[in-house]
Amino acid sequence: MKLLLKKLVDQSREWSEYGNVASYIPELAKINPDDLGISLYDIKKNEIYCAGDSGIKFTIQSISKIITLMLALNENGEDEVFSKVGKEPTGDPFNSIIKLETYSKKKPFNPMINAGAIAITSLIKGKDNSEKFAKILNFFKKISGNNKLVVDNKVFKSEKETGDRNRSIAFFLKSLGVISGDVNDVLDLYFKQCSIMVSSKDIARVGAVLSNGGVAPWNGEEIISRHISKIINSFMVTCGLYDGSGRFAIQVGIPAKSGVGGGILCSVPGKYGIGVYGPALNRRGNSIAGIEVLKKLSQELDLSIF
Ligand code: GLU
Repeated sequence: MKLLLKKLVDQSREWSEYGNVASYIPELAKINPDDLGISLYDIKKNEIYCAGDSGIKFTIQSISKIITLMLALNENGEDEVFSKVGKEPTGDPFNSIIKLETYSKKKPFNPMINAGAIAITSLIKGKDNSEKFAKILNFFKKISGNNKLVVDNKVFKSEKETGDRNRSIAFFLKSLGVISGDVNDVLDLYFKQCSIMVSSKDIARVGAVLSNGGVAPWNGEEIISRHISKIINSFMVTCGLYDGSGRFAIQVGIPAKSGVGGGILCSVPGKYGIGVYGPALNRRGNSIAGIEVLKKLSQELDLSIF
């Protein structure tokens, strides 16, 4: 497996030159665009295989949306969560605002676009932001099997200073009554969850839990229910790569969630959790070389669920 992963990384690396690192968060513009790494957690063997730049740390960005969604579903239940956010793909970019005004239900289409994710973050319970963030981070540590996760404060500050697009989305959500309380506090929490640093190994382990019905394969602990893990896998299939989700379903065919930090988390039901890191992005905000590795891996191992 390790040799196969290395071969696929070597074959896909050149794709990075056709993409660009995210620059709308200035701190992300400093990242080396050529990095490419992969980790694959085999849930039957309880073994992790890595190749390329698999140990490099990057910010989780939008992959955090599935972490807060799991937590919100655990804490608030399905009815409350989906009264605030819908379940349908938008076909729009990750930071689109347009449907918030035109959709008759006056709520974000799904929890994977920024509008939906900000609404989900606002549901996390706690007496103040530091208690809420500690809860998010602790849950993340548990589901990634890594109790050393920390925030990249430079990226956090950088997004906080420049995140006017998300700020406008959040204020719009407040005007619709989707979020309540202090909008800037909700945004701080959202920017912070996006700035948690991970490696491809960490997200491969989260993928492994999702591919194993919510149970951590390394210690047998049920972290989320099978039902919640099905909800997350379904959202990843339909909306995990924004307006690139349909193409990814055809080319790779596995539940996945991308982030503008360059990560892609995948769960191959009953088999593997996979984490990929390649910060050069295509125009839809998804790792260009990362998708290439996953395409090849899916073909080699016949991973498509379809
Ligand atoms: N923090 C980023 C934002 O909200 C996350 C976007 C992403 O990874 O797609 O703009």
